[in-house]
Parts: sequence; C-alpha cells; structure tokens
Amino acid sequence: MSRLETKQFHFQLVPTAGVTMVRQLFAKYELDAANAGITYTLDMKLTAGHELMLTVDSDRIEQVYANIVYNAIKFTRRGGFITVKVEIRDEPSELVIRLTDSGVGISDEDLPHIFERFYKASKSRSNSGGSGLGLAIAKEIVQYHGGQIWAESRLGEGCSISFSLPMHRI
Ligand code: ADP
Repeated sequence: MSRLETKQFHFQLVPTAGVTMVRQLFAKYELDAANAGITYTLDMKLTAGHELMLTVDSDRIEQVYANIVYNAIKFTRRGGFITVKVEIRDEPSELVIRLTDSGVGISDEDLPHIFERFYKASKSRSNSGGSGLGLAIAKEIVQYHGGQIWAESRLGEGCSISFSLPMHRI
C-alpha cells in the first residue's frame, strides 16, 4: 500500500511561484536526459513577468514530475525527444504541464489502466524494472492539489502525460 493510502504522507501547501518552479523542475533532469541521448526541450512562453502563484507542496510536485520524466526517459530510445509544454488554461484557471516523448508508446488496451496501482503495460512488464506504483501515487498527489492527470498515447508513437494545477495570477 502506498504511503498516501496509509495516511503517513504529509502535505505542506505553500504559495509558490509557478514559472520559477517549472523552470527549476525542468532543469533538474537535463543531465539525465542528455546521458540517455534524448533531446529534452522546454516549451514555455511564460516568463518571470507572467509569474503566477500556485499553492503546492513543491517536493510532492517534484515527485510527480520526476516519475513522469523518468518513465519518458526509460521508454524512449537514444536519439529520441522529450518535450515539456507548459500552458495556462482558463475556466478553471490552471497551469497545465505536458511531457511528450517519442518512445515506445502505450497500447489502447493498456492506456486506461496506467494510473492504477501495480499496473505495468504488457510490453514493459518483463524488463522495465518499475514498481507500477509511480503513476498511481502521482495521481493521488495531483488530485490532492485539486488538479488532474491524464495520458494520451498510441503504441509505437510516443506518449504524452499531462497534469494540471489550479492557479491564481498575481
Ligand atoms: P513503473 O514503476 O512500472 O514505471 P508507473 O506507474 O510509473 O510504473 O507506470 C505504469 C506503466 O505505464 C509503466 O509500467 C509503463 O507500462 C506505462 N508508461 C508510463 N509512462 C510511459 C511512457 N512515457 N511511455 C510508455 N509507457 C509508459
């Protein structure tokens, strides 16, 4: 059982500058992507002048981001890409962070299940070495913040994992 489910997991929600947080999160994994031979790009039109506030536990949001980016690295071959696209959406006002990779992708059959505990898509079951828990925990964390997490993918055509966080402009 995950620590979240056993309630041993404490959140510290703090007003946080969203643009700065995303830039720092992105930068933290540049070396891992480079070592894997993957082109890793941030596509964010927002600058410090557009700073926006999120109320988040930034360690927990990093856990979400890390899980998504490590999966993307794991399932993408050398020479591939990972793009991080960051956008603001209105009604409700939220920040959407989308990581798209050019990796192996996920079948239509597996796609609805990847946020379930211990689920590992059949193609990766034998060799990915993961626990199948990462995205289930990521979902709990994002939902705790009032956001959503979702996936779009086709087998052989890469994968996009997106998550949203409610925000208010300053
Ligand atoms: P794991 O620890 O096995 O990576 P996750 O919960 O993080 O567990 O992911 C669940 C499953 O979703 C993975 O085992 C894999 O089959 C699939 N998956 C997640 N991200 C990707 C991705 N970027 N490309 C292809 N498959 C993915």
